[in-house]
Amino acid sequence: MTNDLLKLMIPGPVQPDSQVLAAMGAPVRPHYGAAFTRYYMETLDLLRKVFETRGDVFVMPGSGTVAIDACIGSAFSTGEKILVGVNGFFGERLISVAESYGLNVVRVDASWGEPLRAEDFQAAFRRHADAKGAAVVHLETSTAVINPVAEIGAEVRKAGGVFFVDAVSSLGGLPVRMDEACIDLCASASQKCLGAPPGLAPVAIGARAWEVIDREPNKAHGWYGNLRIWRQYFVDWGDWHPFPVTMATSNLVALRTGLDQLLAEGIPQRLERYRQLALRLRASLRRIDMQPFTPDERLAPVLTAAYGPNGINTEEIVKYLEEAHHIKISGGLGDLHGKIFRIGHMSPTVSEADIDEVVLALEEFERVKTIRVS
Ligand SMILES: *Cc1c(COP(=O)(O)O)cnc(C)c1O
Repeated sequence: MTNDLLKLMIPGPVQPDSQVLAAMGAPVRPHYGAAFTRYYMETLDLLRKVFETRGDVFVMPGSGTVAIDACIGSAFSTGEKILVGVNGFFGERLISVAESYGLNVVRVDASWGEPLRAEDFQAAFRRHADAKGAAVVHLETSTAVINPVAEIGAEVRKAGGVFFVDAVSSLGGLPVRMDEACIDLCASASQKCLGAPPGLAPVAIGARAWEVIDREPNKAHGWYGNLRIWRQYFVDWGDWHPFPVTMATSNLVALRTGLDQLLAEGIPQRLERYRQLALRLRASLRRIDMQPFTPDERLAPVLTAAYGPNGINTEEIVKYLEEAHHIKISGGLGDLHGKIFRIGHMSPTVSEADIDEVVLALEEFERVKTIRVS
C-alpha cells in the first residue's frame, strides 16, 4: 500500500500504540475454552470501568455501527416512537438506523455546531407522550460538538423512556458515566478513543434496558444484533464460549492491551492529557488565523474542528496535508463540506510534537497559498 506512511490525525481509525499493534500481530488464539473466556470476562470488567456502569457489557465483532444497530433494533419494536437528537452527520445516521427498523422517528434538532438541548427533549416528550425513548450521539464527530447526555438522560428517565447513546467517538476520550447519566444502552468502537484497530464494538446494557427488552420477547429484530441472543450465550455458554459467534480474538487482545494502558495511565489523567493537546492546538490554530469551529468552553478534548483561513475551501487543506506532508486530517461533512477541517487527537500515542507538526504543515499551506494568490 502506498499510504502506509500516513500520519493519522483523523477521528478514527487512530494509530494504535506499538504494544497494541504487536498484540494484534501475535499468533491467533481460539475464541473458546477456559483461558480465553477468562480473558474475555476480565476485558468486559475493564470496559465496565470505562463505561462507568454496573450493567452488562458485550463485545461484538464489527464496527461501531453493529453495536448501534443492536441497541436500537433490540430495544424498540417496529412502529414504536423514538426521539432522535440531530446536530450533525451521526445524528442523521441514528435516524437512518431507527427508520430501517420501521420506528416512528421524531427529530429533536439543533443546528450543526450547537449542542442538543435537554429542554427540547422535555418538550418533545410532552408533545409525544407515546415516545418509548430517545437516541443521541455523545460526541458528534462531524462537528466536534459534545451533547449534554446527562441532562438529556434525566429528561428521558423522567418520561419513563429508554435512553440510547452513541459513544463511538467518546468512550475513552470523554467521561461517559453511563449509570449516572441515566444511559440505558451505549455503543462504542475499538478504533477511536480506545486506541485499538477497527473491528470490535463494545456495547453496554443497563437493567432498565433489559426490562424493556424482556417485556416483549419478540421485540428484537434480526439475530446477530439481537442483544437477547448475546445474553443467552453469555449465560448458557458462559464457562467456555460466552458469545454467539466467533470472537475476533486478535482484535480482542489488541483492545485489551489498549484498555490495560488506559487504566494504567488512569482515565482522568488520560482525559486531561487530551484536553491539554486540544488547548495547545486551539491556541496554535488561532495564531495562524484558522478559527476553531466551537468555543474553548465547549472544546472536545479528542477532536478539533476549525475554519480555513479567509474562507478557503478546506478540502484543499486536507489534500495538501496528505500530499505534501503525509498527514491525514478530515474535512467537513454535509453542509460543512469544504467549510471546516477536523483534526483527531484521540489516540493515546498523539503527543505535543504531533500537534506541532500538523500546525507547521497548516502554516506551510497558508504560505504556499499566499504565494499562489499574489
Ligand atoms: C465513527 C462513528 C460512527 C461509525 O462507527 P463505525 O465504527 O464506522 O461503524 C458512529 N457514530 C459516531 C459518533 C462516530 O464517530
